[in-house]
Amino acid sequence: MLSTGNKSVKNTLFRSSVLFSTLTVLMMGVIFSFILFKQKISAVSQIIEDRNSYLNNFMDNFLRETKNTIDFLSSMEIIIYGEKGDEPDRAAVLDIYRLITDTNDYITYLYSGYADGTLLINDYETPEDFDPRLRPWYINALENSPEASVCEPYQEFIDKTWLSATSRTLIDSQGEVTGVVALDYNLNLLNILLRKTLTNYNSAYSYIFRDGGEMIIHYHPDRVKHNLFEEVPEISPADFTEGRGTFSYAYDGVKKTAFYSKIPSADWVIVTAVDKKEILVPIIQDIILVLTTVFLLSLFLGYTQSNTLARRIIQPLQQLKQHTEILVKGKELPQTAFHYPDNEIGHIAKRTMEMAGDELLKKNRVLEEQRKELLTLSNTDQLTGIANRRHLDTFLKQEYKRYLRTGSPFCLCLIDLDHFKIINDTWGHDTGDSVLVKVAEIFCSTLRQTDIPGRWGGEEFLIICPDTTLEGAAALAEKTRFAVESFWNNKPETVTVSMGIAEIDKRLTLRDLLKITDNRLYLAKRQGRNRVVSQEAPGKTSGQTPG
Ligand code: GH3
Ligand code: MG
Ligand code: MG
Repeated sequence: MLSTGNKSVKNTLFRSSVLFSTLTVLMMGVIFSFILFKQKISAVSQIIEDRNSYLNNFMDNFLRETKNTIDFLSSMEIIIYGEKGDEPDRAAVLDIYRLITDTNDYITYLYSGYADGTLLINDYETPEDFDPRLRPWYINALENSPEASVCEPYQEFIDKTWLSATSRTLIDSQGEVTGVVALDYNLNLLNILLRKTLTNYNSAYSYIFRDGGEMIIHYHPDRVKHNLFEEVPEISPADFTEGRGTFSYAYDGVKKTAFYSKIPSADWVIVTAVDKKEILVPIIQDIILVLTTVFLLSLFLGYTQSNTLARRIIQPLQQLKQHTEILVKGKELPQTAFHYPDNEIGHIAKRTMEMAGDELLKKNRVLEEQRKELLTLSNTDQLTGIANRRHLDTFLKQEYKRYLRTGSPFCLCLIDLDHFKIINDTWGHDTGDSVLVKVAEIFCSTLRQTDIPGRWGGEEFLIICPDTTLEGAAALAEKTRFAVESFWNNKPETVTVSMGIAEIDKRLTLRDLLKITDNRLYLAKRQGRNRVVSQEAPGKTSGQTPG
């Protein structure tokens, strides 16, 4: 039973509840999403870093192995003397070279070039114009002699494959450089390895650059020897001063997040990069899912909460307010009673209604008493306490109507105190009043229950005798007159009454009846007072004292 007012309250409540819970849950959702985002990003960073470290270790080990191999080979006499040595020695050298090459997939060639322009190498047709002393690995070894060193990438003389080499000068017992022993490794093959190990993200790859940004290994062969810092101006050597770290950049308009670490044995930097988009899209999808779930949950919570609040608190309060207003206006409560819920609000509402009801009941009782009091006051003569003229008029009309309806007769008895003026004058007005009160008391005590005595005005009284004939009324009047006379018999004041009585008749109106009664009273006075006159004809009177 909801009124429009309740509905609007409910709607307001619904809106604010939904808004409140939505905002609360959304705020929690945002915080949760933020934590989720941070966690995922850190997990991705960890994956990239782990890959990078793994590859760094691999490359470092690989380079150390090649350097150790080269160091070892450069100390072997049969290699130092190379072409100058015996045929069996040269064969032995080539066997060693073959053995080592066969055991490692990444090593393409192991060879030694000599100061006289000769070359010891397996399975390689040296072109006509080939001069080992002009090759980068040879020049690099001389530059770094006597240490082994890694030379910058270069393309194979014939098939142009990108190679790099670790090389070292061969020095004879006199300290003369006889040549250079070198170990070539295929950068493309290493690149395949770098790509192969990255499985989590399709866009992920690693590359290696060396001092100054020169690209050594890149999955795209075209970019080998390109300069990283020239191609990506937003990064510079200053970003790589630490041994390892993260950095971001864009290449070809694609934003990337990357981790770098320095390979200790070669002074190379290995970078592992992933497209930011590939990292962020699944994270954002997860967050959207979380936020959507959270939003729907908050809507559901808000709706449930608002309904519960409205049913258990707002509706009873509204109903209580309406009921109280109705009670205050003094109107009756509607028939369809509202069922207050079994909770604190319901109990308060019920109790309040009961209290309001009790209060109203009390007020009504007082009002009823006051009404009755007023009615009594308005119908009662203040001095004597019997009916006043107003009340007598009402009774007269009622009785007359009853007579017309039933035909059952009634009589009137008009009474006047004799020479009352003298009593006032002689004994004072107060005594006059007490005489009037006493006369009224005598009337009440001598009359029948059904008779109605009243003060007609001044020192005149009227008695209505229902269901009474003139005879009966005359007897009653005489009894009354006698009672008055007897009471004052031995008292200093002389108090008597004269009475005129008459019975109703079909031809008479109420006014006629009163007139006749008045005439007979007048006659009683004329005939000497202290008597009852019931007809106009002389002789039909009663009374003791002649006037
Ligand atoms: P009669 O026998 O002819 O009726 O003479 P009376 O003196 O009774 O009549 P009159 O009309 O001359 O005087 C009536 C007096 O009744 C006058 C008035 O002062 C007195 N009276 C009327 N009402 C009251 C009352 O309430 N108290 C007192 N003490 N006197 C009253
Ligand atoms: Mg009079
Ligand atoms: Mg009088």
